[in-house]
Amino acid sequence: MWRALRGRGWRCLHHASIQVTNEPILEFKPGSPERAALQKALAELKGRTEAIPCVVGGEEVWTSAVRYQLSPFNHAHKVAKFCYADKDLINKAINAAVAARKEWDLKPIQDRAQIFLKAADMLSGPRRAELLAKTMVGQGKTVIQAEIDAAAELIDFFRFNAKYALELEGKQPLSVEASTNSMVYRGLEGFVAAVSPFNFTAIGGNLAGAPALMGNVVLWKPSDAALLSSYAVYRILLEAGLPPNVIQFVPADGPVFGDAVTSSEHFCGLNFTGSVPTFKRLWKQVSENLDRYRNFPRLAGECGGKNFHLVHSSADVSSVVNSTLRSAFEYGGQKCSACSRLYAPRSLWPQIKAKLLEETKKIKVGDSFARIKKWLEHAKTSPNLSILTGGSCDDSVGYFVEPCIVESQDPTDPIMKEEIFGPILTVYVYPEERFREVLELIDTTTPYGLTGAVFAQERNVIEEAQSHLRNAAGNFYINDKSTGAVVAQQPFGGSRISEQTRRQSKLLCSPPHLRYASEFPIFS
Ligand code: NAD
Repeated sequence: MWRALRGRGWRCLHHASIQVTNEPILEFKPGSPERAALQKALAELKGRTEAIPCVVGGEEVWTSAVRYQLSPFNHAHKVAKFCYADKDLINKAINAAVAARKEWDLKPIQDRAQIFLKAADMLSGPRRAELLAKTMVGQGKTVIQAEIDAAAELIDFFRFNAKYALELEGKQPLSVEASTNSMVYRGLEGFVAAVSPFNFTAIGGNLAGAPALMGNVVLWKPSDAALLSSYAVYRILLEAGLPPNVIQFVPADGPVFGDAVTSSEHFCGLNFTGSVPTFKRLWKQVSENLDRYRNFPRLAGECGGKNFHLVHSSADVSSVVNSTLRSAFEYGGQKCSACSRLYAPRSLWPQIKAKLLEETKKIKVGDSFARIKKWLEHAKTSPNLSILTGGSCDDSVGYFVEPCIVESQDPTDPIMKEEIFGPILTVYVYPEERFREVLELIDTTTPYGLTGAVFAQERNVIEEAQSHLRNAAGNFYINDKSTGAVVAQQPFGGSRISEQTRRQSKLLCSPPHLRYASEFPIFS
């Protein structure tokens, strides 16, 4: 019989189910305990370089390929010293993981879930400030951006994953008089490679954690630019009871890691979040190595986006402006779901433009750079493009890019098609009567299909956009910004080349922004 400790954000109902709620987002008001704890954690990191080893076979290992993670807003601060695992060490990690697989996979799901629930409680309480501070200093996030990522989202991932895993176990086939049937949910036979991006602390923890929860053994390759926070998450999992060899912590040069894991006969899964080119490269390598494998590897890839806000002439201007600014420029536009294409009707454009420019000027420039600089050059030199605000950048102390709004006369200019992953928003102003053509344009301009939003107050317009753009986004928002999905409320994922695993489209809306919400059964 499994006994669960009662945590802060979850409650044991019976052996196969727990009740889970989303982690509250703290406000860090002056005088609040969370603010004091965070200030203390930030002070402890000041000028400090943490030494982060590879962790293979349960041991801390150093190689001669030493690297540093620099704070993006102050290059002089080396926040972490780490080393790259070479091919031999990666192979050692594979062997250690595979050797640990059987015992871990045979553990009851309740025991495995307990570890992740405990880690969530540690993150929710005593370790919250440490992880927030490491995410802020290492990945250049503001307090609130760190809070919604490294605290709220990661805690939610661990708790909801545990809940869903337990419920899955409860789903069993029919038993009849002559036979008792049971479904055994077992881990994959081999190891899973978890490869995480720089921009979300929560994603790394989830990419490595979710397969482990389901009975798999994992090699986790964190991003060089998120080492400090990734290692903190790893330590917390170990302290919460994760046995040493279930997740091997393997910082490495991307291609060296990719080449080594995809050429192992034991490779059985890839849990990847990052750019399309990296995922395509890995996919090709897997197909080239198919004859080596003991299983057909499962490949899951959450990739980039070229997300849109489509504004109809019936839209509420202030809602469009607020949502677009937040989506395009929060965290310097470095969210996969950030809005980077705005389609505005000619009649509303003067009002939208005036407010957008006024509000953009108030944004305090943080950090966030060579790739973005290239796009700024393109915007300055292309005859189709005019920069309405912003356009400068500076990397003398850290990576600073001014939020930039560009107007394009050509809806097929590369700036409307390719992912930039920085604070650049491009606007295409269309004549109202060509709304249908704009729907088609949005649908066909890029190969991506991650997120998108429509802003309108007319029901038929929303329905038309929703049906025409059915495959243009995984997460589709109505009168709300294209970013900000919450675990278990708006499960995140794309379509087309933005995601490999799921193909369903989700309809999301934020009722306060939706004037006719109650009339729409689709929103309930
Ligand atoms: P990236 O593709 O450059 O790197 C992702 C990870 O892959 C890193 O750990 C990197 O070291 C590793 N890598 C690089 N080459 C590799 C190889 N050959 N083999 C194995 N691993 C390799 O992406 P990034 O710059 O870290 O992150 C930004 C990208 O991630 C953007 O495209 C963004 O849209 C996407 N992203 C998507 C989501 C989503 O949920 N869809 C979420 C966050 C980020």
